[in-house]
Amino acid sequence: MTSHSKPKKSFRGPYSVSKLETYQQCPYAFYLLYIKKIQAPDTPSKRVGRAFHEIAKNYLLYLQQADLPSDKEKAWKIAKELTVHLSDEERDDLFQILTKWLDRVEFDEEMRTTAMIEEKIAIDKDFQPVDWLAPNVWFRWVMDRFYIRQGNLAIIDDWKVDRALPAQSKIEKSLQMRGYAWLMAMIYPDLEQFVIRLHYVRHSKMIEAVLDRGQALDGRDLIMGVITKIEQDTQFEPRVSDRCHWCDLKGECVKFKEALQLKGGTLVKTEEDARRVGEQIVLLSNYIKEGKKELKAWVEKHHPIVIGKKKWDFSISESKSYPIKDVLRVVKEWRDEEIAKANTTEEEQAIKAIADEIMNKTLEKAKVKENTLGSIFGAFHEIKERVTSEVKPFVYRKNNFDFIDIEKAKEKTEKRAKVKKSTKKSKLIDDIF
Ligand code: SF4
Repeated sequence: MTSHSKPKKSFRGPYSVSKLETYQQCPYAFYLLYIKKIQAPDTPSKRVGRAFHEIAKNYLLYLQQADLPSDKEKAWKIAKELTVHLSDEERDDLFQILTKWLDRVEFDEEMRTTAMIEEKIAIDKDFQPVDWLAPNVWFRWVMDRFYIRQGNLAIIDDWKVDRALPAQSKIEKSLQMRGYAWLMAMIYPDLEQFVIRLHYVRHSKMIEAVLDRGQALDGRDLIMGVITKIEQDTQFEPRVSDRCHWCDLKGECVKFKEALQLKGGTLVKTEEDARRVGEQIVLLSNYIKEGKKELKAWVEKHHPIVIGKKKWDFSISESKSYPIKDVLRVVKEWRDEEIAKANTTEEEQAIKAIADEIMNKTLEKAKVKENTLGSIFGAFHEIKERVTSEVKPFVYRKNNFDFIDIEKAKEKTEKRAKVKKSTKKSKLIDDIF
């Protein structure tokens, strides 16, 4: 039991997917935001996210009106108009994201005809549409782009500007995927299939889930399960997890204050505070170093420690390094073979120059590691492939102790097991032939 004063008020809505996600991650953050109604500080990433969505909305609405599949010039014009309030760094960041999005976003004729852009939907408890601010509104959500194909297939697109890219398996089970599908299935009884696509714009990656009507309706248990927990909760306890790293409610969080033994909301007001915080940082840095050492020894002896969706545990990382003399030998062989095929003195000189450059870069390295091959071979992929297929690398395995994402670690282990399996198979096939 924590020492923070217990909130007495309970919560009865209106709900949104992000409110439910916040509660799942930390009930106390939910309490601060939606019951105590603390205004979370605005941050550069929030400003960039808002501006991106505003530009995407205006651009797609323009394309729809003009009946065009794309018009990058117009997109940049809109972007410049809507980002005057951002700092130079924020604008640079946003423009990088926008460039990636514009290269990938599609808007064909069928989409343009039926798409709803930034559609705001609000429903009451009987799933009847109501006004966004109606007193009986129960659930609200905004869809970045929604359209229907072939009469009964719903496609929901959501633009994400998050820096972290979650594991596919995590997203498929996420509240957002299941929640959107369930809500859409409830208000559109004719829809048979739901494709929910989360576009991680920074990573130029789209993760999608395809659900039939039955699967979409199954999302009810997940959503109602969280809503029931919220409505029965009167404590809203803080939940320390990896979310705390980027939580912008730290200044209000009892757990955080307890950890730092602070009483006020602001950390540094006076010179005395500044000195104390400076000292605390030093103390905490030593605590972290020593704590990590002892935690490692404990986990080694006992078992991993799970905190939220991450765990303190060991993980094996593998790296390869190619013996320098073997790399030089292969490059020389390539050089001699190519020179023998050359028709002119210029060709011969060019081949020698390439080989010399690669050999000099190789000799500059203490070790030719797998991740430095790009800087040695540059655009000469053919020679790089020859080296990696002909030279036997040293393989180093390191057992690291770290704070690991559980889902990602699981995916990595499964991938490694698959690779091992397929290597075994090809070995068998080689033996047969
Ligand atoms: S810092 Fe952590 S425990 Fe505190 S409100 Fe934020 S997420 Fe919850």
